[in-house]
Amino acid sequence: MSDSTVQLHDKEFTIYLQENEIRQAIERLAVQINQDYKENTPVFLAVLNGSFMFASDLMKEIKIPCEISFIKLASYQNTQSTGTVKELVGLNEEVRSRHIIILEDIVDTGHTVSVLLEKLQAFSPASIQIASLLLKPASLQHPLQLKYTALSIPNDFVVGYGLDYNGLGRNLRHLYKVKS
Ligand code: 5GP
Ligand code: MG
Ligand code: MG
Repeated sequence: MSDSTVQLHDKEFTIYLQENEIRQAIERLAVQINQDYKENTPVFLAVLNGSFMFASDLMKEIKIPCEISFIKLASYQNTQSTGTVKELVGLNEEVRSRHIIILEDIVDTGHTVSVLLEKLQAFSPASIQIASLLLKPASLQHPLQLKYTALSIPNDFVVGYGLDYNGLGRNLRHLYKVKS
């Protein structure tokens, strides 16, 4: 089977970024973080599921003392309204007065990260920064300070390297975009 296209459910995807290009971008990000946090011991909070591959590869390049923990934003349908309520689960580390770095797979509108920031502020950390593998700058709707972004991409739907299309594709080693 060729690595250049992949069929997931009803859609065909073509290769967009090779594993080695992703790894190089992550290495550049790690250099920055190693420099910026050498006086601290940061706590990385990787947001499941999408960030698992990014978190794994990034952590191997982090040379300073640090901790890592995994969190999830679970969505619940609000019975009182049509809106969706997001609850933060898995945060059992002591993050009060600690320097947090959130690890995200992708920032699209920025809504997910905004909710997360609001929830984490309640734990009174010393600081919070976001490290995202991918950013879609043209989609961003929230005024976010995104200090660490590995790669900026156009508004295409992408899968692979941890990201899914209806559950499939997280295992792919490269990043693919939907065929138009
Ligand atoms: P936001 O809240 O920033 O609009 O979207 C963030 C979430 O939407 C991501 O964590 C991810 O689950 C999903 N998402 C946004 N764009 C893409 C994409 O291109 N591919 C995949 N697989 N998920 C995406
Ligand atoms: Mg995510
Ligand atoms: Mg998804």
